[in-house]
Amino acid sequence: MPGTLITVTAPSGAGKTTLVRELLQRDSNLRLSVSYTTRAPREGEENGREYHFVETGRFLEMRDAGGFVEWAEVHGNSYGTSRAWLAEQLEEGHDTLLEIDWQGARQVREAFPESVSVFVLPPSLGELENRLRRRGTDSEETIALRLQAALGEMRHVQEFAYVIINDRFPVAADELAAIVRVARLRCANQYKRYPQYFSFLTQD
Ligand code: 5GP
Repeated sequence: MPGTLITVTAPSGAGKTTLVRELLQRDSNLRLSVSYTTRAPREGEENGREYHFVETGRFLEMRDAGGFVEWAEVHGNSYGTSRAWLAEQLEEGHDTLLEIDWQGARQVREAFPESVSVFVLPPSLGELENRLRRRGTDSEETIALRLQAALGEMRHVQEFAYVIINDRFPVAADELAAIVRVARLRCANQYKRYPQYFSFLTQD
């Protein structure tokens, strides 16, 4: 009973994490991958909850042993998705979400052509800047760097199957839920998940 695999990508400040949190609350059948990272935990983050925080040496060992289904360097830190965890979720039939950057999404599309990739866009660069500013205490220089990085990510938007413009949150949340529903209804998915409805195909 294989599950559906969905990647969600966005520049920081586009509201991806809040959207994904809302989706997980609405849909108890969804699992969210906890990535491995070499980045240090931020205040309030817990090992095993937001990320598995590991030393660079451990990350490289896992990477070289083929432990990641995808991995990438983002802002000077390494991030990767556990191959074993993902395989287990999908084999058990859980629909699974990966919150990863564009480089990782590209690798997942190649490894799982039946997966569904979603990009969350802010309504404008001006609004993205406002949101980054509202986050609090970042210096002008940091905000400028974040905006530059966001634009770099957004330039890959056309590689994705679906795009959500996160202008009004409730609309964007409905749209993300709709994408998940539609992904589940793909013929290949339905066939694998409910073979009993397709038994007529093998009857004379
Ligand atoms: P942050 O360190 O701010 O939590 O995340 C920085 C970036 O890394 C975000 O764009 C996030 O989506 C991305 N990211 C988090 N986990 C993974 C992962 O496992 N693989 C890849 N490729 N990117 C990830």
